[in-house]
Amino acid sequence: MLIRLARPIQRDSIVDGEGLRTVIWTQGCAHKCFGCHNPSTHSFDGGFAQDIDELKKQIKNSHNQDGITLSGGDPFFQLDASIEIATYSQSIGLNVWAYTGYTFEQLMLLANKNDKVLMLLQQIDVLVDGRFELSKRSLDWKFRGSKNQRIIDVKKSLKGNKPIIITKYNKNNSYNILNKKSQHIYV
Ligand code: SF4
Repeated sequence: MLIRLARPIQRDSIVDGEGLRTVIWTQGCAHKCFGCHNPSTHSFDGGFAQDIDELKKQIKNSHNQDGITLSGGDPFFQLDASIEIATYSQSIGLNVWAYTGYTFEQLMLLANKNDKVLMLLQQIDVLVDGRFELSKRSLDWKFRGSKNQRIIDVKKSLKGNKPIIITKYNKNNSYNILNKKSQHIYV
């Protein structure tokens, strides 16, 4: 199986979820958020095709990581590959965060028509959901680009059939505490 990536995996990220993380930059996104920081990831023909087994080896060889983060792009546009990577990562003890332009509620509606959406959600621990909204952009909020985006406990949300927000992330990030300007814009 192949996955389309926007760029090679990135190890040791501390800004794409909690802890030290390996980020999988998936290629392809149809949300077209105005002000998106990563427009080069939108095309479904862009980036490059990566063999999944090779990607698994790279993930396994990423030492001292707390988990992986599926970002992009939007990993929900490559369901088979994202399920495979998330399931594998869980099997070797890595937790899974994912970023998507869909809201949790939209994903639950999509899951009624496509089982694979639910299969992917079941392999995700934390979901950062919703489109990037330029008018709500914030460099201060942890792990997200605009204040409408939520950081969701997926297992609890699936159990309760409603989004359960992880409130400990509802605070400013450390860059702000140090009075430094972050150069990273989360999308
Ligand atoms: S901000 Fe994210 S969801 Fe929105 S268009 Fe860009 S990559 Fe897609």
